[in-house]
Amino acid sequence: MSDSTIELEVLRKIKDEAKKNGCTEKEVIQAYIRKMNLQGQEEFQKTPPEERIVFVPQCLRESDCKAPLGEHGYVCQHCNPECQVHQITTAAKKLNYKGVYILPGGSMAQKIIDFSQPHAILGIACEKEALLGGLLLEKLGLVGRAVLLFRDGCVNTLVKIADVLKILGINLNRRTVKKP
Ligand code: SF4
Repeated sequence: MSDSTIELEVLRKIKDEAKKNGCTEKEVIQAYIRKMNLQGQEEFQKTPPEERIVFVPQCLRESDCKAPLGEHGYVCQHCNPECQVHQITTAAKKLNYKGVYILPGGSMAQKIIDFSQPHAILGIACEKEALLGGLLLEKLGLVGRAVLLFRDGCVNTLVKIADVLKILGINLNRRTVKKP
């Protein structure tokens, strides 16, 4: 089955589930993500940062972003301290994370996982991408946590940065944090 066929199949199941339970598709997806976050919380905390990676959506970049697209996503040039991508990549680097990847689309996730071999992944995403990402991690037996965008769309999206930083830094003692 191709990626787009799997995606359609998943979305159809979500639709059926929503109809069956008399709720919206959004509520079904949000419930799945809450469950994934709860189940992954402990294992994520136990995983050292060197075994964790972060997926950031490209739509979180500033509109005048200069980041070139490389083999493993966009490469942040740290041109703007206000940019949330800059803030997340800088924090993760200080905490010794294995990597932060700025995805041009969800389809690159598998390629990066194959390349970086993480144990746990924090994904920042819209509901649909978080759902598909969560299902991919479930299939691969990896630990996942997601922070949903509070303003989604294709450009100029936003995430609650304090939530991301809190999860990035969870259970990491000061010795693991590199001095800037
Ligand atoms: S800080 Fe990075 S991601 Fe943000 S606009 Fe600049 S190059 Fe793009």
